[in-house]
Amino acid sequence: MSQTDNSKIIQSEELDPNFKYEVAKEHGGEQIKFCFQCGTCAAGCPIRTINGDFNPRTIIRKVLLGMRKEVLSGKEIWMCSNCYICYERCPQNVKFTDIIFALRNIAAREGYTHPSFVKQADLIRNMGRLYEVTELELDKREDYNLPPINPTNDDLDKVFEKTKIEDKLKKSRD
Ligand code: SF4
Ligand code: SF4
Repeated sequence: MSQTDNSKIIQSEELDPNFKYEVAKEHGGEQIKFCFQCGTCAAGCPIRTINGDFNPRTIIRKVLLGMRKEVLSGKEIWMCSNCYICYERCPQNVKFTDIIFALRNIAAREGYTHPSFVKQADLIRNMGRLYEVTELELDKREDYNLPPINPTNDDLDKVFEKTKIEDKLKKSRD
């Protein structure tokens, strides 16, 4: 006789029935309640084809059920590549790609920003881009008569100050 995996049982007392309203109020999350779980988003998702743990339909289902902590603290919401395929194909105009941004914004405020995104913010802070501009790239650009790239960006302090990114990441760094 097979045993029940208790970790997969949804505990109703842990559900937050207001979570879907919270997401719907967040910029980008407005359409979430229109999802009728057809699975078209999951069928066309390129991330899902390489990682079966990721499923946009399931993420929406969890939000609608009120699985707030599981969704916000999980890694799934950070796996979407924002390719907009599901956004284009959804018959209900749910705009899942925008919902992902809404969920990430709520998660960041709660201190759940995935470490890889914190690292990306640090790289942009230090260099203005995600990849270091090395001599190799500069030589290549010269070969193609392209102007050199400044490896640093003096306006970054202003950008970070204006957008308050550090405040938003503070909880996730603690
Ligand atoms: S395609 Fe749209 S309606 Fe269908 S499950 Fe995905 S988000 Fe929901
Ligand atoms: S936007 Fe995200 S969820 Fe939608 S198809 Fe692309 S990777 Fe998948």
